[in-house]
Amino acid sequence: MKVNNINGTKDSSCRCASWLEHWVNYSGRPLPSICPELDCIQNPEIGAHVQKDSATDKNWYIIPLCKKHSGDIGKSLSIIDIPLVPAKVDNTCGKTGATHPTSATHGMIDHKKGQAS
Ligand SMILES: [Zn+2]
Ligand SMILES: [Zn+2]
Repeated sequence: MKVNNINGTKDSSCRCASWLEHWVNYSGRPLPSICPELDCIQNPEIGAHVQKDSATDKNWYIIPLCKKHSGDIGKSLSIIDIPLVPAKVDNTCGKTGATHPTSATHGMIDHKKGQAS
């Protein structure tokens, strides 16, 4: 599959320890032992931002890449078939609607009030 390297966005951070962690968390796969670029045998060290080579899908994705390939900004890369994890944190680690501590406490108080009387 072909992707375009759009890495190098300086404001790139999410709630995971790194974009590499982000990929591991949401791909459901362990980190590959080598860079997914077809001819590359380096360790993947960086969670790089890429776009699919597609006219319709302009979303940003994260894939693990070695230092060299993550630095090839603006280039097209041929990679093996690995999961592309959305870089959009709204759909992953930045998701809202998780447990809300205030409402949980509120429920407990109501319960106790009933016992006291
Ligand atoms: Zn994340
Ligand atoms: Zn590489």
